[in-house]
Order: sequence, then structure tokens, then C-alpha cells
Amino acid sequence: MEISLRRAARMLVEAEKIVITAHIHPDGDSLGSMLALHAPLAACGKKVTLLLDDEVPDVYRFLPGADLIRRPQGEVAADLLVILDASDADRIVGVGEAVKAKTLNIDHHISNTKFADYWYIDSQAAATGEIILDLLHLLKLEISKDMAVNLFTAIATDCGFFRYANTSSSTLRHAADLIDRGAQPHVIAEQLETKPLASIMTLRSVLDSLEIHAGGRIAAVTVDIDTGENGAESTEGYINYPRNIEGVEIAVMFKPVDDSATRVSFRSRRCDVSRLALAFGGGGHARASGCTVNSALAGAKEQILRAAERLLAEAGL
Ligand code: AMP
Ligand code: MN
Ligand code: MN
Repeated sequence: MEISLRRAARMLVEAEKIVITAHIHPDGDSLGSMLALHAPLAACGKKVTLLLDDEVPDVYRFLPGADLIRRPQGEVAADLLVILDASDADRIVGVGEAVKAKTLNIDHHISNTKFADYWYIDSQAAATGEIILDLLHLLKLEISKDMAVNLFTAIATDCGFFRYANTSSSTLRHAADLIDRGAQPHVIAEQLETKPLASIMTLRSVLDSLEIHAGGRIAAVTVDIDTGENGAESTEGYINYPRNIEGVEIAVMFKPVDDSATRVSFRSRRCDVSRLALAFGGGGHARASGCTVNSALAGAKEQILRAAERLLAEAGL
């Protein structure tokens, strides 16, 4: 059932045992939103647990409270499961199975499948973090510096530090509010930009894999590396290289998972790549989306590139 943000706030007030989760392959928005919502609810004396079906990537370990995030183990009884920044049930499978509770989905993906018992979706919001800030204000909760750092990171990472098409005046007003509460953009940016040497070495092989298709309108890279024991290294930034090439309309990043699965990310300048991701069972936003294709790299490439060319033709680009 679709509900107002006020009603979502009321559900949080009424619940005693709350589990908060977000999508697998976590990013700044999903993690920052989880952590910012956790702190004040826990401070009110509620029993609040942060569960995620994945590891926290090293680059986000600086977020205040990041070490509170756990993987689900066995059944968890709760009054309410809050699902943040996730557009479909496939992205929270383990937690969804473990937690027996009614579900409340707060999200900003245009591709949201409305899978929860209750949902509040604002596809105009640049990040789920914007919605969480509004929610905290509605609840008249104090926003600490740590919460501001989490929410600023959530918002800034989802809009490319206020450069992408989803950046609105409202996005900047939310960010300004968070700076007033102690978030320091230059400190957060430095945390996100400082990488281990291995990540820059990986960049060499990623750039080596660059392919250009459709007369220069599609560029693709492949990240074919072992991303560590738990896959916790973030590979988010690599897609910006094909994305930034002059004349490229659609950028694609392939990440082989195993012999039967390849993860794919899309970025676009003008066309709606959420449609492309949806066609392969994924989702996302008009200019940033992703999916997992059920085939090995070579097969996935062929299917995806063909579909991307079709999308360009349909869009008249
Ligand atoms: P990424 O390329 O992983 O940074 O994802 C870009 C956008 O697409 C983000 O908003 C993701 O939440 C969304 N997205 C990525 N993969 C999927 C998927 N398999 N299903 C639904 N949405 C996805
Ligand atoms: Mn996200
Ligand atoms: Mn998001």
C-alpha cells in the first residue's frame, strides 16, 4: 500500500523492534541511509538492528556506525522491516527471508516494483538519504554530526557530488542543512577518493578492457578481478571512465560473477537505461542502472550490447 512520509514516520514511532536493511552491493546511499535512521531510533530506546545481505565495502567503513551492520543469521522476529534504497525484493533476499515482520520500503528508484507491504517512493529525490532527512525532521529528531556525515555521504554519492542530472535545488538544500549540522564535504570526499594501491592497479586492467561500439556511442569496460575475500572492494568508480568519453551515450561495466552470472552497470547521458536494466531483471534510474545477466561474460556482453544498440535506435540517438 502506498503511504505518505508522515504515515511512514508514524509506523516507525509505533514499532518497538525494527530491522533496517538496504540493497545488496551496497553504496553510499544505502549504507548512509541505514546508519542515519538507526541512530535516533536506537536512542529512543527501540530495539533496532541493521542487517545486510552483503559486506560493507572498505571505502564506506569510515561511515559512523558502519561496524553495526551484520549479515542475517537465522530467523529474526521484529515488528517492522524497513527496506531502504531497494527497488525490488530480489535485492534483499536473505534479509527478507530471515525477518518475519511487515515491510516498509522507502526508496527513490523509478523502477521500484512496489513489492513491500507499505511503500513511500519519491523518484524526484536524488537519494534515499534526502527522504530520510525529511523523515527525521518530521519526527522532530535531533540530527547529530554522525548522522549528518552519513546522510551527506548518501546524497553526495548518489548524485556524483552534485553533478548528475538528479541534482536539484532541493538536493542542495538538503546538503546545506547537513553541512550546518557538521558534515564536512572535503573530509567525506577525501575518504571516498583515497584508494588502496591495488585499486589503481585494477584501474589499469579496467582501462585496458575498454571497448567502443555503435560508432563511439557505446563504451564498455570489464572488471575481471577477484574483489577480495568477500567482494568488499568497491568498483563503483570505474564506470565513470567510459561514461566520460566524448560522444558516448551509454556506458557499460561488466563484472563476471561466475560461469553463469555477470553483473552489469549502465550509465547514460540522455537515454533511459533503467529500461535496459529492467529488461534483464534489474532496475535503477534513467541515467544509472544495473542488472545481473544469467550467463558468462561473453554471452552477457553480446546480449547487453545488442540491447543497448536497440535502445539507442529507439531513442533516435
Ligand atoms: P550500480 O551500477 O550498481 O552503481 O547501480 C546503478 C543504479 O542501479 C543504482 O541505483 C542501483 O540501485 C541500481 N541497480 C543496480 N543493479 C540493480 C539490480 N540488479 N536491480 C535493481 N536495481 C539495480
Ligand atoms: Mn543504492
Ligand atoms: Mn539510492
